[in-house]
Amino acid sequence: MTLESVPAYDSERISGVGNHAVVVGASISGLLAARVLADGFDKVTVVERDELPDEPKTRDGAPHARQPHLLQEAGRVIIEDLFPGYGDDLVSEGGLIIDIASDFNFYDEGGYVASPSTQIPGYAGSRPLLEHVIRKRVSEIDEVQLRDSTRVVGYRTDERGTTVTGAEISGTDDNNTSMSADLIVDATGRTSRTPKWLETRGYESPEVAEVNVDLAYSTTTVERDPDDQRAFWAPASPPYTRGGGALPIENERRQVVLHGVHGDDPPRNVDEFHDFASSLQITEVEEILDSHDMLSEDIDYYPFPSSRRRYYEELDCFPSGFLVVGDAIASYNPIYGQGMSVAALHALVLHHTLAENGLGNLGLEFFDEVEQIVDVAWMMAVGADFQFPETTGPKPRGTGLMGWYLSRLTRKAHTDRDLSERFIRVIMMEKPPKTLFRPGVVWRVLKPAI
Ligand SMILES: Cc1cc2nc3c(=O)[nH]c(=O)nc-3n(C[C@H](O)[C@H](O)[C@H](O)COP(=O)(O)OP(=O)(O)OC[C@H]3O[C@@H](n4cnc5c(N)ncnc54)[C@H](O)[C@@H]3O)c2cc1C
Repeated sequence: MTLESVPAYDSERISGVGNHAVVVGASISGLLAARVLADGFDKVTVVERDELPDEPKTRDGAPHARQPHLLQEAGRVIIEDLFPGYGDDLVSEGGLIIDIASDFNFYDEGGYVASPSTQIPGYAGSRPLLEHVIRKRVSEIDEVQLRDSTRVVGYRTDERGTTVTGAEISGTDDNNTSMSADLIVDATGRTSRTPKWLETRGYESPEVAEVNVDLAYSTTTVERDPDDQRAFWAPASPPYTRGGGALPIENERRQVVLHGVHGDDPPRNVDEFHDFASSLQITEVEEILDSHDMLSEDIDYYPFPSSRRRYYEELDCFPSGFLVVGDAIASYNPIYGQGMSVAALHALVLHHTLAENGLGNLGLEFFDEVEQIVDVAWMMAVGADFQFPETTGPKPRGTGLMGWYLSRLTRKAHTDRDLSERFIRVIMMEKPPKTLFRPGVVWRVLKPAI
């Protein structure tokens, strides 16, 4: 399921679902969930363990935010629907609106894919800025209260243990208190403790799939010429275990990122950064480093050992009044930049599921719907991971054939602008992968080069 197959947000669809919803985690998933819940609940409290800054700043609870984040089309459209004028707000805070078709240069399979002939707007900014603008808009909603420096340490249930009735919280004074709610949404990310909590309450916890790719990112920030909005991205792809890119962000800066998989560790210090950049398949990253001052000597290193998926949709039983969203369900090798768009699609599905079902059996209904979103992101991410023979973990059926087909399609897309656009719209989670298997497309991919 992608943007094309989920009906758009409709503010008229929901009202009077409940009194109080609590969202745990004020990162992208939590903030977007809070936005849609505010239509149906009198009050929505977002509980975040970090102190939430008034400006775009990284937080200890979301260290991955130091790495470049590309907002794909699915996320861009949904966020703009939920917060009309989001793009303008981003620009007024220093961010950019780029044209993915002409500014974004995607290198794979030995060449750049051709520029699509239609413009595709893209919102560009550092991840702290993207989050800051969402948080600002959420904080302006009357029904929402952001409660920071507060950690959720457990959940309360009714006597039978079948319904979650509240959250146990610990604030700066370390005194535990509780907060009752009609719905609790776990948006605590990859390290979510819900599976453990379910076990302690006698529930089955979801099966977990872990696909090990041993990825690490290293990022620095350099100056950017104001009119130069170009982005470059050349992900690791066999036989190359390293890749990198450069993405424009706010305030005339660019993030330069290097990455490696399966032990090809990117540098953690500035001295080795340049050498690694010079060994990439593309020259532009090195050129950018050569011609622009680094804004700090710090290199932000972030290891990402595995893509991880929890199969909540396979559970027969899940407590009422409880839900899990975003990275807490699945986190993907970020080379295709899908996580924020998946979070946005989750919020949209939550909106529709609440409208159709109210709170009754919300969890299982929701997991059933989002399975198809996670499937698409998972298939793309781990499909790319399994192109490396060193990758371990459960391999989805058809991965080899799919990898072979997409490699061939990408090579054809070096010169075929239409194929390139179709491919990009799938990566951006706007169109479903099946659009790459229509007879006319398959023919162009498989026909021998003349
Ligand atoms: C290196 C890297 C690069 C990425 N690049 C991209 C990209 O280019 N494009 C893209 O779309 N996505 C990208 N992603 C994925 C993206 O960051 C996530 O999918 C996105 O942030 C959504 O995550 P989330 O909100 O579900 O969880 P998180 O961002 O992990 O947030 C969880 C929040 O919960 C809080 N929390 C945790 N426990 C508690 C508790 N007990 N009580 C209260 N609060 C708590 C944390 O402090 C945190 O704020 C990347 C990820 C990584 C690791």
